[in-house]
Amino acid sequence: MCRLRRIKRKSWQSSCDKDVLLNILSVLTDLLSLGTGRRIHYVISKGGSEALLQALISAARTEPPDPSILLPLLRLLARVGQQDRKFGIKVQKAEATDVILSLTRQNLGHHLNLTHCLWVLRVCASNVAAGTMLGINGAMELLFKVITPYSKQHVRTVRAAIEALAALLKSKSNSRQAVNRGYLGGLLRLYQDWHHNDVSNNYIYIRRGLLLCLKHITNIQLGRETFLGSRGMEILFTSVQDCLSCKNLDPIVTTVTQILRKCYPKEPLPLVTVRSSYSFPLPGNVKTERPCMGSEDDNESDGEEDMETDLNKDDVESKEEDYDLETDVNKLRSRPGLDRPEEELGQYEAMCPELSLNFQELDSESEEEKKSEDRTENLPSTSSHFIPSGNSVKDPNCRWRTQSGTEAGSDPGEKDFKVPLQSSAKKEKCSRSLIGEKREIVETVQNANSYEEDPAKSDTFSPCPLPKEAAWYKKIFNPQCEASIDPTSGVRSETSEIMTKLLEEHQGNIPFHSPHFYIARAKGTKSIPAYRDLAFPDFWGHQPPPSCKPMLERQYGVQRDKVLDDVRRLIQPGDLIGRTVFDIDEPSHSSPGAPDCLTFFSKFESGNLRKAIQVREFEYDLIMNADVNTNQHHQWFYFEVRGMKLAVPYRFNIINCEKLNSQFNYGMQLVMYSVKEALQGRPLWLRAGHNISYYKNHYRCSAAAGGARGKCYYTLTFSIEFPHEDDVCYLAYHYPYTYSAMMSHLDVLEQSRNPKKVYWRQQVLCQTLGGNPCPLLTITAMPESRKSDDLEQFYSRPYVFLMARVHPGESNASWVMKGTLEFLVSSDPIADLLRKCFIFKIVPMLNPDGVINGNHRCSLSGDDLNRQWLAPSSQLHPTIYHTKGLLYYLRSIGRAPLVFCDYHGHSQKKNVFLYGCSIKETLWQAGCMVDTAVITEDVGYRTLPKILDKVAPAFVMSSCSFLVEKSRESTARVVVWQEMGVLRSYTMESTYCGCSHGLYKGLQLGTQELEEMGSKFCLALLILHLKSLPCSKKVMAQAALLLDLDEEITITDRAQRRYSNNSLETEDEPPCAEEIDYNTDSCSDGEGDFSELDQEIQECLSWVEGEAEDEGDTTGQTCSSKALRGLYISNQPSSSSTALPLSSASLGVYSGFESSPA
Ligand SMILES: [Zn+2]
Repeated sequence: MCRLRRIKRKSWQSSCDKDVLLNILSVLTDLLSLGTGRRIHYVISKGGSEALLQALISAARTEPPDPSILLPLLRLLARVGQQDRKFGIKVQKAEATDVILSLTRQNLGHHLNLTHCLWVLRVCASNVAAGTMLGINGAMELLFKVITPYSKQHVRTVRAAIEALAALLKSKSNSRQAVNRGYLGGLLRLYQDWHHNDVSNNYIYIRRGLLLCLKHITNIQLGRETFLGSRGMEILFTSVQDCLSCKNLDPIVTTVTQILRKCYPKEPLPLVTVRSSYSFPLPGNVKTERPCMGSEDDNESDGEEDMETDLNKDDVESKEEDYDLETDVNKLRSRPGLDRPEEELGQYEAMCPELSLNFQELDSESEEEKKSEDRTENLPSTSSHFIPSGNSVKDPNCRWRTQSGTEAGSDPGEKDFKVPLQSSAKKEKCSRSLIGEKREIVETVQNANSYEEDPAKSDTFSPCPLPKEAAWYKKIFNPQCEASIDPTSGVRSETSEIMTKLLEEHQGNIPFHSPHFYIARAKGTKSIPAYRDLAFPDFWGHQPPPSCKPMLERQYGVQRDKVLDDVRRLIQPGDLIGRTVFDIDEPSHSSPGAPDCLTFFSKFESGNLRKAIQVREFEYDLIMNADVNTNQHHQWFYFEVRGMKLAVPYRFNIINCEKLNSQFNYGMQLVMYSVKEALQGRPLWLRAGHNISYYKNHYRCSAAAGGARGKCYYTLTFSIEFPHEDDVCYLAYHYPYTYSAMMSHLDVLEQSRNPKKVYWRQQVLCQTLGGNPCPLLTITAMPESRKSDDLEQFYSRPYVFLMARVHPGESNASWVMKGTLEFLVSSDPIADLLRKCFIFKIVPMLNPDGVINGNHRCSLSGDDLNRQWLAPSSQLHPTIYHTKGLLYYLRSIGRAPLVFCDYHGHSQKKNVFLYGCSIKETLWQAGCMVDTAVITEDVGYRTLPKILDKVAPAFVMSSCSFLVEKSRESTARVVVWQEMGVLRSYTMESTYCGCSHGLYKGLQLGTQELEEMGSKFCLALLILHLKSLPCSKKVMAQAALLLDLDEEITITDRAQRRYSNNSLETEDEPPCAEEIDYNTDSCSDGEGDFSELDQEIQECLSWVEGEAEDEGDTTGQTCSSKALRGLYISNQPSSSSTALPLSSASLGVYSGFESSPA
C-alpha cells in the first residue's frame, strides 16, 4: 500500500506517461474492489480523495478530455467519495464542483460518460454544502435535461440523474429553489408517467428515485405546501394502491407512505385544551400549573426540520446514557441524613406496633375487637355512617344501588359531574372531601354484607332467569342514557333489584375477591369526578385464564395499511362521519346511543377515556385524559364500550399516545372483559385485539391548547371483534387493579388469614391529597409462644420493606403485589417459615389518587411521585413523605430493612427484572478508574436477583442493572440505598407484555403469572435469609425440609456467570432497541445507501460491449445487471468484461497533469 502511494504521488505529480497513469488507475480499481471498505478508508486516510480530485481536474482540462482516463477516474472517485465523510468539503476545497458540472454538461450527448459524471455528482451532493454549491451553479437544471418521461432509452443515465437530483435536494436551499422553479410539479408528473408506463415493474429504481426527490423536497414547509397544492397526496395515494399487492414494490410503498405521512397536514388534537379534564387545587397555594416535562427529543419543529441532525440521534442518546451515570464517588457513597427534624420521627413509632406489642395483654383481647380496632386505626370517626339502603339514601358514590335520584340534570351533584372543568365547583367538592365525610370502613363493609338481606330489597327482588336483552345491560350500565330517554321511569328500584340479583348470582368462586367488599370500599373511595359508577370487571372480579396467550404475531404491512387508511380520510372523505359520541368535557355535545354507533363510558375508577369520535361506521378515534393537573402522560387506558354488532371488526385509534415506541409493536395485546362472558361463568380479562400497531400520527401539540408546542403524538390502533352482540365490554391497557380492589382485597386477606399464626396489622400511613387512606401493612408470624426467647425472636426479626404502584398506570405492579400479599398470609409452610424470618412492612399502593382518577404517571399534584424521594413535601407528596419517615424511623432504631423493593411496571421491555444500586458497577460503566482498595462494596445486592433468576420463571437476571443514574437520584431505590444505607434496595420492573426467556418465552403474561412473580419474590427472600443471615437450627431444619437448599444456593453461582450488565435504565421506560418501522419521518430507509451505487458501478463494469442499447426491458427483473447491460455503447474497445482500458489508444492528455498542483 505504501509503495502504491509513493508511486501514485510521484506519478500524478510528474508523470507524463499516460500508460503509467492508466495502470495506476487499474491497479487502484482492482485493489479497492476487493475486500471490505478498509482499503478504501486507508486510501482516504492517505489523501486519496484529494489526489483523485486533482487527477480529475487535470484530466478535465485536457482538450479533448480522454475518456480512457476519465471513466476509470470517475468510477474511482464515486467509490472512494461515497466512503469519505469529508468528500464534499474536499471537493469544494479542490474547487472541483465546477469541473464536475462542466464535464457533465459536455457529456450530455454521451450517455456512458454522462452516467459516470452523474455518479460523482451524486456523491458530491451527499454533502449538503457541496450540494448547495452545485445547485447554485445550475446542477438541477442540468439534471432535468437528462431526466426524461418514461422511455426505455438510456435508463441507466436517467437513474443516475434522478439519484443525483435526490442527493441535491437534501439541501434545503436546493429544495427551495426547486419548488420555486416548479420542479415539484414536474417530479410528480414524471412519477405518474413512470408509474403508469412501467407496467412490468422493470424500473422500480427510477420510480423510487423520483419518490426520494419528492421526499426530500417535502422536508421543507414550502415543499409540503406545494406538494399539497399540486394534489400530491391524491396522486401518490392513488398510485400506491396498485403497488400494495406486490411485495417487490415495497421500497416504493414505503417511500410513498413516508411522504404521505410527512405531508399530511398537521392538526391539533380535537380538544379545546390538552390539559386534564380534571384539576385539583393544591394545598398551600401551590400553583397547579406544572411545567411540561415532555421529552425534548419528542418535539418536532414544524418548519424546516433538519433531517441531517436526525441521523446522529442514536449516537447522542447512547452518549447521554453514559453521561447520566453518577461518577461522583462522594455522591455514590452512603450519606445518611435527615430531610426533616429528628423529633418528627417519633410519630412513626405508632406504625411499628409489633415492636411494643404486649402479648399478655393481647391474649385477653378478643380476636374480633382487635380486628375492628386495627381496621379503624387512624380513621377519624364520624357520625355520618354510611347506611346503604337503596331506597332511603342517595349515595352519590355508587350508582349500583341508587341512581335515578341523582341522575336528573337538576341535581347539583350532576352539575359538578357534567362540568369537570368548572373550577369553583371542583374546589368546593375537593375541600369538602378533604375535610369531612370520613367513613367508617368497617361499618361500610358490614353494611354491605347485610345489604342483600335488606327487607326493602327483598320485596322488589324476584327470582327470574338471567336477562338476556340488551335493555337489561343498558339499565345497569348507563342509567344516564335511560334517564334521558325517560327521566321519570322507575330505573332505581329496577337497578337495585338487578344489583341484588347480580350479587345473588355471583358464583363467589374467584379467590380473594368479594363483590360485597368491593362495593363497600368503592363507596368510600374519593375521586375528583365523584364517580358513582363501578366498572363491572372490578366489581364482579377477574379469574385468570388457565393458560397465557402467545404474543401476537405481527402481520406483514399492518402499520402501512393503517397509515394509508388514515390518509384515506383526506383523499376519500366520503365515508367519514366525524361524530363525537363521548366527551367528558362536554357531555351535551356527545351523542351516546345514536343508531349504528358504539356507546362509550369511562366515569369509573381508573377509567380515563376523555373523548370518542366515530370516524367511520366501524372506526373510532379515542382520546385519553391527561393526568390530573398536567397536560400529558397518556398511556394507560380503561373504558367501557357497548352496543356492538357481532362479527364486525371495529377499529379503535388512541390518538394521543406519547411514548416513542410501544410493546404494542412487539406482540403485546390489550385486555378485554366481556360482561356477557362473565355472566356465563367466564369472568376473565383476556388479551385481545389484532392488527395492532403503534406509530407517529399527524397530531401535534400546540401552545394554544395548553401543551408543549410541536410535541408529537402517536396512535395506538387495534381492531376488535367482540364476542357477543350488544354486549358490555371493557378495554384496558393492562389488567386493571383499582384502589377499591386493593382495599377490598386487604379486607379479604385479613379475613382469610389464620390469626393464630399470622400477625397482621393494617394501618393508615396517611391520607392522600384526595382524602383517601393510604394503607400500611405489617405482616409477620405470631410468636411461637409467650416465652421470652420466642418473644425476643419476634421482636428482633429483620425488616423487609415492600411497596407498589407509585405509578398508577402500572397495574401489573399491583398484581405482583397481590401475589406477594396472598403468599405472605397463606398457610403455605414456606410462607410460615418466611414470616418467622422477617417483619414485612408493605405499602401496597403509594399513589391511590392517581390510580382512582385514571392517571398514568402522576399524583393529584401532577408530580411523578417516584421523583420526589430526595425531598418529599409533606403537603404535596404525603405518601412519599411518610413512607420515607417510617424508613428513617426504622433506621434510627437500628432496624433499617434488609431488603427494600418498589414494584413497578415496564412498558418497553419484556420479562421481569430488578434495578439495584452499585457504586463499582456504576463507575465501571461510566469508564471511571476504580481503586478497589479505596472503594469497597458488599456485593450482597446481587444475591436476591440471582436467586430470583433461579426460582421465578418470568425473571431474567441479564435484564437487571445496578447502575446509579443522576436522573434517578430522587427515586425510591436510590434514596433508600443512599440515605437509609440499604444495600439491597431495588426497583422491580414487570413487563406489560411477556417474556423473551425461560418458561414463558413467547407468551404474554397474565395476572396469574404476575401474581406468581409476587409469590416467588417471597420464596427468594426466604432463600436470601438462609444464605445471608445466621439462622436458628430450627429454621434451617424446617427450610431443609421445604427447599432443595443445596441446589438453590449453589445454582446462583451459575446464574452469576450468565449475568451480563448490558442494560441501562435510562428512564423507567427507556427507548426500545427493537427495529420496526414505526417512525414517520425516519430517513434511514436505505435511500442514501451507497451499496446500491456500488452495484450500479459493478453492473456497468460487467456490461458487455456491443449489445443493443434498448435491451433493458427484456427481463422482468428491475435493473438487474442483465437488463441494464448494454445500455451504453462503449467507445472503449475492450476485450475483457472488466472494461478497464489499459491500452494507450489515444494520447495527448498529460499536459494537464503536469500543471496541476501537488
Ligand atoms: Zn414505574
